[in-house]
Amino acid sequence: MTHTAPILKIALPGPFRQTFDYLINDLEPDYPIGARVQVSFGRKTLIGIVCARVGKSSLKREQLKAIQKLLDHKPILTPDIFKLCNWASDYYHHPLGEVFAAALPTLLRQGEAPELRQTRFWKLTASGLLQEAKTLSSARRQQALLLLLQANPAGLSEDTLREHEITRQTIHTLANKQWINSFETTCLPTPASRAEEKPLTLNLEQQQVLSAITESLGTFKPFLLEGITGSGKTEVYLQAIALCLQQGLRALVLIPEISLTPQTVDRFKQRFNNATAVLHSGMNDRERLEAWIMAKNGEADIIIGTRSAIFTPIPNLGLIIIDEEHDASFKQQDGFRYSARDLAIVRAQAAACPVVLGTATPSLTTLFNADRRRYHHLALTQRAGHALPPSYHLIDLRRQKLQHGLSEPLLHEIQQALIRGHQVLLFINRRGYAPLLLCHVCGWTGRCEHCDANLTLHQAPTYLICHHCGHTERVPAHCASCQNPHLVAVGIATERLEQALKEYFPDNDVIRIDRDSTRRKGSLDNLLQKIHQGKSQILIGTQMLAKGHHFPRVSLVGILDTDSGLFSSDFSASERLGQLITQVAGRAGRGSIKGNVYIQTYHPDHPLLQALIHYGYPTFARQILEERLVAQLPPFNCLALFRAESPTLEQGMEILEKIKQAGLPLTDNAVQILGPIPAPMQKRAKNYRYQLLCRAAHRPQLQQWLSKLLPLLQHVKPSKQVKWSLDVDPIDMF
Ligand code: ADP
Ligand code: ZN
Ligand code: ZN
Repeated sequence: MTHTAPILKIALPGPFRQTFDYLINDLEPDYPIGARVQVSFGRKTLIGIVCARVGKSSLKREQLKAIQKLLDHKPILTPDIFKLCNWASDYYHHPLGEVFAAALPTLLRQGEAPELRQTRFWKLTASGLLQEAKTLSSARRQQALLLLLQANPAGLSEDTLREHEITRQTIHTLANKQWINSFETTCLPTPASRAEEKPLTLNLEQQQVLSAITESLGTFKPFLLEGITGSGKTEVYLQAIALCLQQGLRALVLIPEISLTPQTVDRFKQRFNNATAVLHSGMNDRERLEAWIMAKNGEADIIIGTRSAIFTPIPNLGLIIIDEEHDASFKQQDGFRYSARDLAIVRAQAAACPVVLGTATPSLTTLFNADRRRYHHLALTQRAGHALPPSYHLIDLRRQKLQHGLSEPLLHEIQQALIRGHQVLLFINRRGYAPLLLCHVCGWTGRCEHCDANLTLHQAPTYLICHHCGHTERVPAHCASCQNPHLVAVGIATERLEQALKEYFPDNDVIRIDRDSTRRKGSLDNLLQKIHQGKSQILIGTQMLAKGHHFPRVSLVGILDTDSGLFSSDFSASERLGQLITQVAGRAGRGSIKGNVYIQTYHPDHPLLQALIHYGYPTFARQILEERLVAQLPPFNCLALFRAESPTLEQGMEILEKIKQAGLPLTDNAVQILGPIPAPMQKRAKNYRYQLLCRAAHRPQLQQWLSKLLPLLQHVKPSKQVKWSLDVDPIDMF
């Protein structure tokens, strides 16, 4: 009796707030929940996820289409990940199909099988092993290949060889000489087991923290590990992971986007012979899929990744670590706007395992949760080894003459540090040469035609670039408005600072680390290595250089421009400023030399700056918490932000007004709707941007209101012209 054949509810990728019903193909015995299916949808063929099997549909059977193809006989979304996605879809009010899509590697989303591909590897033959590289000095490419394979006796894949610019022809030449041969394998060859690095002897604080964490293995327990910079948090993670692995459990480590350098991963690989899977956005789709498969099959014991790795299936997950939990990169800022840190708590609860949020500068939300005893608060208050915390000094800029953004006292201190053979680190969170090009005659400035923003001047190559939309212009030869040929670069950014320091200190090597200098694959790694080897003495960087790195030779940190963070309109700006200063400062004096931090400011008496440098981040953070309480801002209440953008002035505003009108009758006096108002940067990339802020004292109130409101917004459809989005728990108002 075909009419009783079950119906499957399928989540499809797209802006759909419902699942779709399909009939099953009788030939397939089983459609597991969480498996991928191929279906026809309108005129398109889509890949969706099986969400449920039901007996009835609200549509007539004749109207239902049959599923075209089942792609997985085992669920691709394991039950725990399936549940996590459902939770996230409910909480962030984001379409389930889109959440599933975000949780899967791209190739799986496109329908590929979750199998490791056969890859061709090359290795040295017995006669190849006997060759000496120097005999090939007249054949550089062959020599390079020989050296590479000598360094990697287990063999290297053709992809890897290509990354090292080895051509097919070179491979064939050595193959013809029978020095190398190829083999095919499905798995990445595991590196030859290295001598394991020994764990360090923990100090008392570290021991206490470690045992608190490991005693809770097997049960859900969230921890805030607040450890000052250089206190040895990573050592605690490593030893906690070791115990977790000993119990046959696996560990997931999430780290911020910019901390995921080969050095970080090496710290784990040097300690463990266990297979480690690494997942981040710099990998290609194939690499990501392979790491994902290793994790899902239980072939990796440690999974290290950025934000989206929170969705990696891991059998027997025993421990989750979020390093630098305050970092903004854990929050996805477009499309499916989730917080990987918050999802980690949900995931740990479901997996019944401990989750450690580690940082020197806890986010106010996490601190609040720890103060309310929702999280267990652990602390490391001493630097590990013999290093001492750095001392802070404010440089009052008010009566100073600046040279390229540098004050006399700072230049003097830099010189002193260099004379002593130390490294210095100068921090300015702005890349390019100068943030503004100005005509002194008429006041004309270089503005982006698509954004409410100045164009940044870049040198080498010389361009004006908008940092908000990427718009690029040639540098005009004269002022566009009065033809004055002498345009002035105003303000400083990394390139200008680099140039100035090279002039002041011609005998020292200067390194600049920002997004521009590290664009090529491997370049960040090369620069970091130069720093570690002591080849450069002056390091200039944006926040890329601020986080996580351990540079034992740095004794002086100079923070050039803090004031913009003190007076920003964004509610999270002062929190971020305190975190950034503390993190940058934490690069100073991590070895045996004492660290000093110099902060240049026009507002040396600012109470927040005073609190930060005299009493440290915890006092500073509690001071801002008080401000947040007064202003009724998170974590004291909950926010949801609707954003809209449109190419005309009115449409974005109109759509938010409609959302407001739909929402007002539902508030029950529990939800406040503020706005709509223009976004702080009203025009960006040709669009006008608006926002509607919604807040409630308690999370359930806000959630219930959103659950009632969103179905009503089906008719407030985004169009090609107008887009709107919802951000639950926004971390800024930008
Ligand atoms: P954090 O992550 O807290 O900033 P790290 O884990 O990077 O700190 O540790 C800072 C330095 O201290 C590292 O060089 C690390 O090897 C060292 N260290 C950590 N724990 C100990 C210890 N118990 N004894 C000696 N050195 C340690
Ligand atoms: Zn722009
Ligand atoms: Zn002019």
